Parts: sequence; structure tokens; C-alpha cells
Amino acid sequence: MKILVTNDDGIHASGIQSLTEALKKVGEVAVVAPDRERSAVGHALTLHHPLRAIQLGPNTFAVDGTPTDCVNLGIHNLLSFKPDIVVSGINRGANLGDDVTYSGTVAAAMEATLMGIPSFAVSLVTEGMGSNYGAAAEFASRLARQIHEKGLPSDTFLNVNVPDLPCDSLLSSRVTSQGKRRYEGNIIGKLDPRGRKYYWIGSAQLSFLDLEGTDYHAVSRGHVSITPLHLDLTNYASLQVLRGWDLA
Ligand code: MN
Repeated sequence: MKILVTNDDGIHASGIQSLTEALKKVGEVAVVAPDRERSAVGHALTLHHPLRAIQLGPNTFAVDGTPTDCVNLGIHNLLSFKPDIVVSGINRGANLGDDVTYSGTVAAAMEATLMGIPSFAVSLVTEGMGSNYGAAAEFASRLARQIHEKGLPSDTFLNVNVPDLPCDSLLSSRVTSQGKRRYEGNIIGKLDPRGRKYYWIGSAQLSFLDLEGTDYHAVSRGHVSITPLHLDLTNYASLQVLRGWDLA
């Protein structure tokens, strides 16, 4: 099995290093990842300046772009092989519920899916630096092997969230649906040293609705959450409603 690994926390992050170590036991691993942290860039593609890739080792490249840039460059230009699977992570911090569209980690898996390559994103559910990347990496390598054997349904990738617990404390995995964020004030406004106002997004600890069967419900009870996602965002249930409007 040939595996491309990427992330959005940057090539030097602990998560991608644990993930690479674990995946090397089950396949041939290449790494193409951002040269610095690019969290919350979503599915951004760099169009307005050139990209540079620095080779750090055999099939290992740091790119001064986004996770989506990395998947593109990796597959089309940098690697000596076409990967059978793309794994993105291990992200420092959860990617649950409505947050998935902000996530560079999840977007890298999306990009691979657009190219027809099976893929999953994996995140460690932690508010801090995270302790148990090894346990999450072991889970990811088992999942990679299963995906390689069984394939994934078409146009589908997986968003995996692993509680920050040691291997023996992690409960079984649950296949879940995307949860719902509880939207609250999340921006701090203050004055800078020159008396001008500034705003900083992401200050508060945000919560999710505790709905049975969702990603949040599973990880908050110690289970690994696996959510199958697809790129078609159409709300099919509302097609009929809108087609009933008088739009001429
Ligand atoms: Mn990140």
C-alpha cells in the first residue's frame, strides 16, 4: 500500500510524525505537508503566487502552501508513485460537526477524494497540545489497511476524531453523523497599544449539541468517531420546496 500523508498543522507537528511512524509499518509512506501551521484554511488553493517545495528526505516535502496545494503538488508533481490512499492529520484538536468546512485537515482528504483516491482525515480531540498521538496513529493505520482492502463507497471520505486517551482507555469506534455546533459569541474586541480596536476570533471554548449518533456524542464518551462525508452539499429535501417558488 502506497500512502500520502499530509496535514494542516505543518510538517514539524507531533501529529504528522506519529502518523507517519505508524503508517510506515503498513505501507510505503510519502509526506507532502505545509512548511508551517495552516489550520482553518479550509479548502483553499493558492493561485496568486508560486509555490516552493523543499525536499527534506526521500518522498518527504515541505510546501509553502495549503493542505490542498500539498495534495495537488504531491500527486501531480513531487512523488515517485501514485498513492493508493491519502491520510491527513493527526490534527491537534477536534474537527467535529459544522467545523469541518473550516478545517484544512479535512479539506486535504476532500481534495484526494476529488482525484478519486480513497482518503481520511484524523484529528485528536484535545484543547491543549495533545498527549496520545500514538494511540490515534495506531487506529489510523488499522483503518488505512481496512480501506485498502475494502475500498470506500464512491465520492466518500472519512472524518475520524480520536479522544486524547491512551490505547487501553479508548472505547470502540462508532460510525457517526456530523454534529451541530452551538453558536455563541466567539470574538473578543479590545484596544491595541495605540488605542485602535482589534478583534480576535476563536477566543471562547465552543460547544456542540449533545445529539445521539453524532461525532460529538461519541468522542465526548471516549469513543473514536468515524463520519463518512461527501462533497455534494445539495440539500435534496429542499429541492421540491424551491422548485415550487415562482422564479420565472
Ligand atoms: Mn490544525
